[in-house]
Amino acid sequence: MGAKASLLLVISFFTISKWANAQSAYLDGDSVMISKLQDQISKIELLEHLKILASDTMEGRGTGKRGNQLAANYLSQKLSEAGFKPLDSDTSFLQPFEFLSDDWILQEFRIGDLKLTIDQDYVIVPWHSFSAGTFYAKSILLVHDHAIKKLDWKDLKATLIIIYGQKENVSGRWLEDVAKKNLVLFVNDDFHMTHDVVNGQPFYLNGNPLYKNYAYIKSEKLNAWILNQKKKDFEQFLQGHIESIKISRLVFFRNRKEVKPIKTANVVGYIDNKDSTQNSSKKYMVLSGHFDHLGKKGNSIYYGADDNGSGCSAIVAMAKYLGELAKNNALNKRIIVAFMTGEEMGLIGSHYFTATDFFKKNKFECNVNIDMIGRFDKNHQESKNPYIYVIGADRISKDLDSVISKTNVRYNHLDLDYRLNALDDPERLYERSDHFNFAKNGIPSVFFFSGLHEDYHKTSDTFDKLNYQLFHQRTKFLFTVVSELAVRKTPLR
Ligand SMILES: [Zn+2]
Repeated sequence: MGAKASLLLVISFFTISKWANAQSAYLDGDSVMISKLQDQISKIELLEHLKILASDTMEGRGTGKRGNQLAANYLSQKLSEAGFKPLDSDTSFLQPFEFLSDDWILQEFRIGDLKLTIDQDYVIVPWHSFSAGTFYAKSILLVHDHAIKKLDWKDLKATLIIIYGQKENVSGRWLEDVAKKNLVLFVNDDFHMTHDVVNGQPFYLNGNPLYKNYAYIKSEKLNAWILNQKKKDFEQFLQGHIESIKISRLVFFRNRKEVKPIKTANVVGYIDNKDSTQNSSKKYMVLSGHFDHLGKKGNSIYYGADDNGSGCSAIVAMAKYLGELAKNNALNKRIIVAFMTGEEMGLIGSHYFTATDFFKKNKFECNVNIDMIGRFDKNHQESKNPYIYVIGADRISKDLDSVISKTNVRYNHLDLDYRLNALDDPERLYERSDHFNFAKNGIPSVFFFSGLHEDYHKTSDTFDKLNYQLFHQRTKFLFTVVSELAVRKTPLR
């Protein structure tokens, strides 16, 4: 077979499989009905919900606080009005649970005149051996991991020991002994701390358990400070020509965490066809968005209008019209709406949801998660074209992403922006909202987002800052995506 013929064969093979792929993600929603419903979603109702959720009364909806409960009541009422039913009980949409919260009530770490911030420059576990008291030292010892065996540690005390190298290269026995009288830190620039608050498991660093007798410190500020103290020696040290350096400076280290139980609840409800016999699959899909935010600090309220008042308001508006799809028996799976609590404290509500028996016992087709969809971010200041970030849709399922893009072509024509979906996204956005707990359980999940902005996690994230034209367009788009997924007969591959 000539080169030309084989090339033709390859091209036709790719075209067919691409076509087949596209076909498998075809849309079978009644576009007339879905269009009519999306057009009923109004900017006014979005503004109404948002003004309430981001009002002074809600006090920033802090998890476990009064404002959070008031918001939960408001969202429950809206679900009930939209025809949703409680999931777990006959009466309440609240999915209550308790978890251990841990706030740093005291944190101070100074090396000479260098001030360090917890969770930014260094991390420790709440029960670190020095968390009960205060650690003072008059000297700092820098050492490479491979040189530890060569030094005499017998009488060393009240010293800050900073190890350059891997913790795995250091014996646990040595650590146990030396850490009794000295503070031991490993230099590590890639710490990503998680902990299982619901089950009170130990803290994990990049997935590895973290223990009480050492901590991690980032190199940036530390190295810059040391260079100011001992430039020549430190350069030699970093090049490996010197194995250890001693610096005489005062060290002050005290960190105390208050671990206390917090009661809170997700707000969860579901909807099925009016004539539920019409929906044979009995599968579920989850439309989620967190309703908690940072609460109040002193008299300052963190309103969280965009984060995530916008997502919750959009879901409340959509719920009403998803109810219409149910009335028309158009659903081919049950739609769960889950307003998650505790997201700002570590995706706690969705962690709890995906740890319930209900979740384990039932089949879930996909999760659509909405978090911050009300504004323009820096990347789009120029274009001003209506856009939305799509994150994670292609990670687990072949079809989910193409259903989304086809739906966009069919109804809305937003700019679907995939740049934050990169596997090496430095912001790790794929791991930073509730869809991640569904994804961790192998459920095809997509995170819709419009980007960070100057008011992110500030008291200035208020409802008057949103772009309601854009917010409205995105909400309608999301309604069509959820509708097409909910009416779809063919399971997502
Ligand atoms: Zn958020």
